Amino acid sequence: MKVIDDLNFKNKKALIRVDFNVPLDENFNVTDTNRIEAAKPTIIKVLEDGGSAVLMSHLGRPKGERNPDLSLKHICGKVSEIIGVDVKFVDDSVGENVEKAVQELQNGEILLIENLRFYNEETAGDKSFAEQLSKLGDIYVNDAFGTAHRAHASTTIVAQFFPENKCFGYLLAKEIESIEKVMQTGEKPVLAILGGAKVSSKITIIENILDKVDHLIVGGGMTYTFVKAQGGQVGDSICEDDKMELALEILKKAKAKNVEVHIPVDVIAADDFSNDANTKTVDSDKIPDGWQGLDAGPATLAKLKEVILKSKTILWNGPVGVFEMENFSNGTIQIGNFVDEATQNGAFSLVGGGDSVAAVKQFGFQNKVSYVSTGGGAMLESLEGKTLPGIAAILE
Ligand code: AMP
Repeated sequence: MKVIDDLNFKNKKALIRVDFNVPLDENFNVTDTNRIEAAKPTIIKVLEDGGSAVLMSHLGRPKGERNPDLSLKHICGKVSEIIGVDVKFVDDSVGENVEKAVQELQNGEILLIENLRFYNEETAGDKSFAEQLSKLGDIYVNDAFGTAHRAHASTTIVAQFFPENKCFGYLLAKEIESIEKVMQTGEKPVLAILGGAKVSSKITIIENILDKVDHLIVGGGMTYTFVKAQGGQVGDSICEDDKMELALEILKKAKAKNVEVHIPVDVIAADDFSNDANTKTVDSDKIPDGWQGLDAGPATLAKLKEVILKSKTILWNGPVGVFEMENFSNGTIQIGNFVDEATQNGAFSLVGGGDSVAAVKQFGFQNKVSYVSTGGGAMLESLEGKTLPGIAAILE
């Protein structure tokens, strides 16, 4: 892997693709600074080596238009505060003005350029736009995992113009390492906990992961497609009838590969999709009509605790219940507690993909697992076994 520690930035300008796509409130204050903090070690390394940093990112979805509400100038103060260096800003992404600002940049200084997505060329992966960007640095550093699954100008194409001088930043390297730990080098038993709403959105992950894991926990809304496929009665639970064949096939494949699949045996059923609904604990294959399963039940959680505590490598993607509603959040919280305990006992635990991070943060587990991925879609595609274009571009 070409990592940032292999390079020295003395008297060099680092062109760093960061992910500063942060949430802003109506007064343009940054309401979650995680992504800025996550990029800090890479920026500091460049400055401490005696170089300067040109930061580029997108913010929101301006769709090729200059939208003042989505200008990166709004976050300049926050970035300065977090990095501890006054960040300069230039109100364009390419062109003479930007090149001039880069030339004037001294060692130890940071320049943030304007939102890349004010140009359609960014998302189109336009080669000449990427070439213009490449003029803004001597070394290209990609530290944006959140966009690594996109072949955009700044995330992928620009790397072509730095055949020798390109590397991963610390954040991206950590993401790659964590995924490899789960998918390739993890200590056995390896466990994947897959929750979320639908089988259809997780199917490629399940198929890919069957070759990597010893145990697979299927939870959340996916439960009911598996239960009904095996002849169970799921009442009004979320269920994809057209995926039942597939669910049976998965179970067959898992058996052939010696993967133990754990599906909830009991659930918390509700008479409405609402936090105020009446609830009862029922067997997952005997849910009466008019009732729907919205969380894992106590017998299920006891069983899952055993499985989680004996695992040495754990991947967790997706809540096991409708965690947004307090009355159906217990299962997801308990799973978090078990993963916490397993981690304390020495297991490596990775949480990531889609909504999982939101659930983990909501319940304060982000510091209790080994690693929380910063990429939703990028993580899902990695788990599907795809090579992300932003990562491939550095390795080429
Ligand atoms: P995903 O983005 O696929 O990981 O799905 C996350 C969503 O799945 C969350 O918003 C949960 O509320 C939802 N979910 C989890 N369990 C259930 C369930 N039993 N019924 C309906 N939705 C569920």
